[in-house]
Formats: sequence, structure tokens, C-alpha cells
Amino acid sequence: MPVAPLIERLEARRWRITPQRRAVAETLVGEHVHLSADEVFSRARTGFPDISRATVYNTLNELVAMGEVGEVRSPTGPVLYDPNGTDRHHHLVCTGCGTLFDVRPEGVDALHLAPGQRHGFRVEDVEVVFRGRCGTCP
Ligand SMILES: [Zn+2]
Ligand SMILES: [Zn+2]
Repeated sequence: MPVAPLIERLEARRWRITPQRRAVAETLVGEHVHLSADEVFSRARTGFPDISRATVYNTLNELVAMGEVGEVRSPTGPVLYDPNGTDRHHHLVCTGCGTLFDVRPEGVDALHLAPGQRHGFRVEDVEVVFRGRCGTCP
């Protein structure tokens, strides 16, 4: 079942949606969307010209803390924000240009650490990154 868009999930959680916060949340829409904080800032400004960079950063941090937005480290740049924070997925990343796709690989649920390698951890999540070259990078 597809996960509801970020803004709908936030409405359902009764998050206090100010116009500024809405402008931020509305930049994060769709599959395969991974934006840097600067990209979110410049897009949010088209809907809300007076929005400050601090508001954008604070809102992103809050959404990450809520688990609604994921953070992905790009091989070519800064941390990227992913609207599918609640939709468990993995990433396919081009090491040439940084293009990043959401993927759902088979077999991930079968991955596990032998007890001797858990170092006392209670493992809660697994993240897999497939790296390689996209069709347009040499
Ligand atoms: Zn590429
Ligand atoms: Zn993603």
C-alpha cells in the first residue's frame, strides 16, 4: 500500500502547520526525492518568499526527529532529505553524479548479524546502499 504524502501524514498527526512549515513540507513530495537543505530553502522560498534559512533548517530537523523525513548521505555532497521517512526503503546511488533512487531490494529482511557480532546491541534497522554508475556517467 502506498504511503500517504508527507503533508497528509503531518496533518493526520496534527502537527502544527504554519505557512512556513507547510512551504517546507511541500518541497518534499514524491518518490526518489532527496533534497539538500539549500534546495529545500530555495524551493520553499518560491511559495513563501520571506521564509528564513533557520526556519527551514529547524523544520527539517524536527521532521527528521519525528521520523517523517529521512536523511541520506550523498556521495557527492551534503546530507539529503527524503520525504519517505516512514516508508522503509534503500538507495541506489551513482558515485559519478550523485543521482539517487529509492529501491526495495529482495533479501534485506533475511540479513542478520550473528550474536557474536551484535556487541550487545538491539538492532532496530538495516540500511543498504547500492553504489555504482548510472546510465549517463562514464
Ligand atoms: Zn551518474
Ligand atoms: Zn529515499
